[in-house]
Amino acid sequence: MKKLYYLAAALIIALSLAACKTSGNEDNASSAFESSAVSTVSFSESSETVVPAVNSIPDEPVYVKVEEIKLSAYEKTLNIGERFMPIVTMLPENASNKAEIWESDNTAVATVNKYGNITAIGEGGCTVTVKSADSPEVSAVFKVTVNAPIKIEMTYREGILIVNKSYPLPGNYNPGVNSEAKAALDQMFAAAKAEQNLDMWVCSGFRSYNVQKNLYNSYVRRDGVKNADRYSARPGYSEHQTGLAFDINYADSRFTGTPQAIWLAENAYKYGFILRYPEGKEHITGYMYEPWHYRYIGVENAAKIYSSGLTLEEYFGLTSVYSE
Ligand SMILES: [Zn+2]
Repeated sequence: MKKLYYLAAALIIALSLAACKTSGNEDNASSAFESSAVSTVSFSESSETVVPAVNSIPDEPVYVKVEEIKLSAYEKTLNIGERFMPIVTMLPENASNKAEIWESDNTAVATVNKYGNITAIGEGGCTVTVKSADSPEVSAVFKVTVNAPIKIEMTYREGILIVNKSYPLPGNYNPGVNSEAKAALDQMFAAAKAEQNLDMWVCSGFRSYNVQKNLYNSYVRRDGVKNADRYSARPGYSEHQTGLAFDINYADSRFTGTPQAIWLAENAYKYGFILRYPEGKEHITGYMYEPWHYRYIGVENAAKIYSSGLTLEEYFGLTSVYSE
């Protein structure tokens, strides 16, 4: 080994000299020579520090095992269908392998995916455990409680299905477009065309609970809960889920004051429809003026409501306010 060291040192000296000669400065050349010679001596005595490029051995990476798992939360009560994902911290911070293994002890209550996203499935309690893939004896336990499903009774007044902010529909009520209402709508559109050459179409009819949920959530993201609640129903609270409500032509201010809006306000009751959210009644119906939103309640009922000049809420003495 020593021979190799001297060979390396000699090579460095030779290179230093060559470098100095090309620079053409003799004074620097000699001092460079001296310092090289000194370093050669010390190199031969203590190996690695002086010429590491020649003789260094790369450090063996130190394997750091996971010792502890912390969670951002350790328990949660969820409704069926709700999700929750606690944030995991594996310690120490420089642990080599932070892979997680998730498991639920009762998948009828809650399931968990490989990322730790927990989904409430059925009423009851269970524990969800996250283990370190590296050290399976290291784990953390998350307690899940799933509420009983909320039983929603549908509300009727004189045969009219009531849906507003006080009277929701069950999430699984999914009737599709009501065929009687659709037939009446087609008749109404035909009459508007025949009488005044007005073109009308449905821009939104039946909406399932899930469609409404996505729609409402997108409005909340855009405008916040307070504003979204003025013009969009929370899932389970939309008349569109009845299959009896239709938005006509444009569900926005483009429709306001159009010949179609005026014709509908005066004639829709003849076909069994009422303007559900009239102007100036937001504090009663729970919704701002929507000249495009018509609700089918049958010709007889529509005539009564129309001639009363009242909203459905006023006619039956009902509120339209979310409980929370
Ligand atoms: Zn509508």
